[in-house]
Amino acid sequence: MKEYYPKNAQRMRAKYRKYYIKNRERVRASSREKFRKLSYKLKERARLHRYTAKRKARRLLRSAIDQGQIKRPSKCSRCGRRGPVHGHHADYSKPLSVEWLCTLCHGEIHRKDNDA
Ligand SMILES: [Zn+2]
Ligand SMILES: [Zn+2]
Repeated sequence: MKEYYPKNAQRMRAKYRKYYIKNRERVRASSREKFRKLSYKLKERARLHRYTAKRKARRLLRSAIDQGQIKRPSKCSRCGRRGPVHGHHADYSKPLSVEWLCTLCHGEIHRKDNDA
C-alpha cells in the first residue's frame, strides 16, 4: 500500500487541481453574474429614484405655481427670448429652484445632460 501512495497522491493532486480549476471558474462566473445583477439592480434603483424625484419635483413646482408661490416668467433666463418657458430643474431635490428656459435652451440643456 505504501509504495502506491506517491502515485496515488499525485493522482489525487491532479484530481484536486482539476476540481479546483473547474470550481474556480464556476465561482468566478457566479460572482461575475452576481456583480452584474447587483449593478443592474443599483442602476435600476437609481433610475427609478431619479424618475420619482423628477415627477415629484414637477408636481411640487406646478402646485407652487398654481398657488401663486412661484411666478412663471414670460421670457427665457438664458437667451431672453419671450414666449412659453419651461421650469428646468438643475437639482430635483430642490423642486422649487428652477431655471426658466425657452424650448430651445431647454432642449439644449437636456441634450448635454440627458439625465435631468
Ligand atoms: Zn429640464
Ligand atoms: Zn432660451
